[in-house]
Amino acid sequence: MRPEADDVHELVGRRLREAEQMYTKGRRELVELLLAFGRPASMPDLLELRPKLTQSSMYRNMTDLESAGVVQKIIGTDERTRFELAETLIGHHHHLICTECGAVDDFEVPARTEQALEADLQRALAGTGFRAHSHRLDVIGVCARCA
Ligand SMILES: [Zn+2]
Ligand SMILES: [Zn+2]
Repeated sequence: MRPEADDVHELVGRRLREAEQMYTKGRRELVELLLAFGRPASMPDLLELRPKLTQSSMYRNMTDLESAGVVQKIIGTDERTRFELAETLIGHHHHLICTECGAVDDFEVPARTEQALEADLQRALAGTGFRAHSHRLDVIGVCARCA
């Protein structure tokens, strides 16, 4: 479920203040674009939405948002770097990654699957001393457009 934009902006503002950063117009615009895109976006994806933006300042703002924990990088199957808002902002989910076109889509599994996965992981980790606080699970395959 997608969160309300107002709530996201408020959280981002707070996160940035904690990192002693300002929620500038440029940063806010990036968060808006990421919300509008609705799945992991590359810089060219975002420039297509808003061609007037300057690429260099977009990169700088994205890096700042990333170091404040607002944005995270997604590693796909192509060389394009994609970004999305952190799970603490948009909720826990997984990714479907296409090996043909490189597209990355968000994907949610049912709550009972998450619970079963967590329980199995805890069991598998028992004795390793590793303390898990989250997981990532990417599904690799061919998207409907490429199939
Ligand atoms: Zn995602
Ligand atoms: Zn999960």
